[in-house]
Amino acid sequence: MTKEIVLIRGDGIGPEVIEQAKNILDITAASYGHCFRIKEAAVGGCAVDEYGEPLPEDSLTACMKADAVLLGAVGGSKWNDAARDKRPESGLLKLRKAMALYCNMRPVRLEPHLRGMSPLKGSAIGGGVDMVIVRELTGGLYFGRHETVRTTNGIEAKDELTYTEHEIRRIGEKAFEMAMTRRKKLTSVDKANVLDSSKLWRKIMHELAEKYHQVEYEDMYVDNAAMQLMRAPSQFDVIVTENMFGDILSDEAGMISGSIGMLPSMSFGEGRRSLYEPAHGSAPDIAGKDMANPLAAIFSAALMLRCSFGLEEEAANIERAVSEVIAEGYRTPDICRPGEKRVGCCEMGALVARRL
Ligand code: NAD
Repeated sequence: MTKEIVLIRGDGIGPEVIEQAKNILDITAASYGHCFRIKEAAVGGCAVDEYGEPLPEDSLTACMKADAVLLGAVGGSKWNDAARDKRPESGLLKLRKAMALYCNMRPVRLEPHLRGMSPLKGSAIGGGVDMVIVRELTGGLYFGRHETVRTTNGIEAKDELTYTEHEIRRIGEKAFEMAMTRRKKLTSVDKANVLDSSKLWRKIMHELAEKYHQVEYEDMYVDNAAMQLMRAPSQFDVIVTENMFGDILSDEAGMISGSIGMLPSMSFGEGRRSLYEPAHGSAPDIAGKDMANPLAAIFSAALMLRCSFGLEEEAANIERAVSEVIAEGYRTPDICRPGEKRVGCCEMGALVARRL
């Protein structure tokens, strides 16, 4: 199989974790006889520094032509005071928009050997944790109008939250379809007791629930969902929610797995191209110290092989190699407890590579 993959290393720990994921892709291609043509594109703070734009035209064109995109992370305090359109994150938002990626899917699983790392203990995780959070990516507060105005009473800031019926229905369809391939349970998270956008969200979800009657469907307010994720996460199979609730809940759920450094994600939309990225950010606090956990990036590469290229065996082989390394007791600092074998980002990547 020949595929073109665009790699975006980004900022902070992005280049470190992507280097390990690239190595895994190279080895997988060589051992299964595939040709992954890898092209690099600059997006984020590094692109601002080099080209004056967080998403240079060449990078956008490369992503739009590729079969799939794998991204490390963007952002850092260096660019905090930049104008909104010169911030690293705006490059990523523009890229998601240009690729028409409206659905973010984040699987959250607790590796059996990492149970001790989860902040949740005992009966809370006794039933295991295996859920997928489906987050709407192109609507809601992040894409509404932002305005800061000076009034006679001082400064006033506004952020607009809009959802259309079409946006809700298409993400709802994806979530129900996802539930159909799993344990057939879907929880829709909203704030319908307060927000009009959530009332519309709930109405459309109920219409879809009638169509997908094999799926056990429930509504949950976002504040309760935040609590239930800590109390009894094994109750969840698929969660679907709007952009900002999903942003927050997926990080909260991510911590159940022990570290955000373990969590891959995938974003897709109408087009055939998807974007894969670890759930974490650029982690400036550990950047350049060989302390980052590369497993989220490596899992993201495996997800890409499975979901974009249909290479199930190759993806499963990578996941097996990671499980073996974890079972043997190797740990990056974020998941390491006393008595375990502490390794850096490069060594963790090399350990996985050797088991492929
Ligand atoms: P973060 O995910 O970068 O870091 C949160 C904490 O998790 C830090 O303590 C960090 O050291 C740790 N961490 C993150 N990834 C890790 C890994 N792979 N291994 C070990 N530890 C890891 O979130 P933040 O601190 O809120 O944001 C830092 C920067 O990243 C900001 O500029 C933010 O805008 C950006 N960000 C980017 C993305 C993205 O590119 N998709 C996502 C979130 C945040």
